[in-house]
Amino acid sequence: MNELNTMNAPRIGFVSLGCPKALTDSELILTQLSAEGYATSKTFQGADLVIVNTCGFIDDAVRESLDTIGEALAENGKVIVTGCLGNRTGDGGGNLVRQMHPSVLAVTGPHATQEVMDAVHLHVPKPHDPFIDLVPAAGIKLTPKHYAYLKISEGCNHRCSFCIIPSMRGDLVSRPIGDVLNEARALFEGGVKELLVISQDTSAYGVDVKYRTGFWDGKPVKTKMLDLVAQLGELAKQHGAWVRLHYVYPYPHVDEILPLMAEGLVLPYLDVPFQHAHPDVLKRMKRPASGERNLERLLKWREACPDIVVRSTFIAGFPGETEAEFEYLLDFLKEAQIDRAGCFAYSPVEGAPANALDGALPDAVREERRARFMAVAEAVSTAKLQRRIGSAMQVLVDSAPSMGKKGGVARTYADAPEIDGTVKILPPTKASKTMKVGDFARVRIVGTSGHDLVGELL
Ligand code: SF4
Repeated sequence: MNELNTMNAPRIGFVSLGCPKALTDSELILTQLSAEGYATSKTFQGADLVIVNTCGFIDDAVRESLDTIGEALAENGKVIVTGCLGNRTGDGGGNLVRQMHPSVLAVTGPHATQEVMDAVHLHVPKPHDPFIDLVPAAGIKLTPKHYAYLKISEGCNHRCSFCIIPSMRGDLVSRPIGDVLNEARALFEGGVKELLVISQDTSAYGVDVKYRTGFWDGKPVKTKMLDLVAQLGELAKQHGAWVRLHYVYPYPHVDEILPLMAEGLVLPYLDVPFQHAHPDVLKRMKRPASGERNLERLLKWREACPDIVVRSTFIAGFPGETEAEFEYLLDFLKEAQIDRAGCFAYSPVEGAPANALDGALPDAVREERRARFMAVAEAVSTAKLQRRIGSAMQVLVDSAPSMGKKGGVARTYADAPEIDGTVKILPPTKASKTMKVGDFARVRIVGTSGHDLVGELL
């Protein structure tokens, strides 16, 4: 559990489950709690009330969320539930959380800070003397101080057949460009060295407001991916920081971002959730940009910016996937040279339209294809890591090494926190090479270790 420190204030327990988008919802609620003078508790027993921010995406996450709510009820008794699971219906059409745990005080869907705060006020009244001045301009962050997620929009206009996110989070709503850039600047000024841009579909930023022109710093800026990324890149340059883009669909206009990467304004790293490569499977999945020539586009990106690293996720064993379609996917993986690829064996999500598709594959086939996929993905990735041996790279330190004793952990531009690999730094032998978490350093890559690199400080 996460903890805010204020003396003699009512204490709220907070559990944050789910993806980075849920994490930013948690940060907004924690920021508001802190602004109003509430403290947080690390234990359920020490809290006056517990908030559980849930995930409802896959069945395991639903189970984990329901179990956590049960635990909080057993140990504390006063529980507010928020997040994606709050919007799920159970058998018979009622609210799933209320059906499973009728004694919860309130249930809301995702991005519902105000509703959650209203429920908190009802059950644990606001303290009299809010510590407003204690809240940093960038809000409360649950990530380490040197990196932060920046959510640029909520919801999604697509209707991928395996996904229920739009039914839980609604259609795309882009945040005003001025607000997004103000938050980014406050984060950099607060010491953030790496900003991770997230949304359900980063390429679609501004579509819902027809790329409306907003204002920031007294000048007009369009609510559009290219304009946003260019401004973020300038801000990052001023503060000597990194900007990393996640959930980018391969639409033609993404090509315009590549020069910014080649120039060094944003990291030459793209997280593109392809999910599959065969056009017929992509059609059955109802994927955005499924008509685009993804392989051609990717090769063009590599030409425009040879350093680019592409990470992606895929699904193996989608209903109706033939052996030939699966092999097409493996060929794509090899030709596209995806640097970091994750793969899930298809698993039906309750309420998703894909459940009604013909041709469901046995679990064993889905699992066997996932394993075959990962073997190819690892071979591609390992060969790419090997090629880095001998090169000098800039890294951001996540865990500081100490002289002559312990090694540290850092990441290069090729690795996003939590999902990609790391660089294990050998213990430095000179005092001049000591460093802190959040410092940038240069290392010489001297080897690999599984999905990670090994480096020595230069
Ligand atoms: S793009 Fe598809 S998978 Fe992603 S949130 Fe939207 S509907 Fe779901």
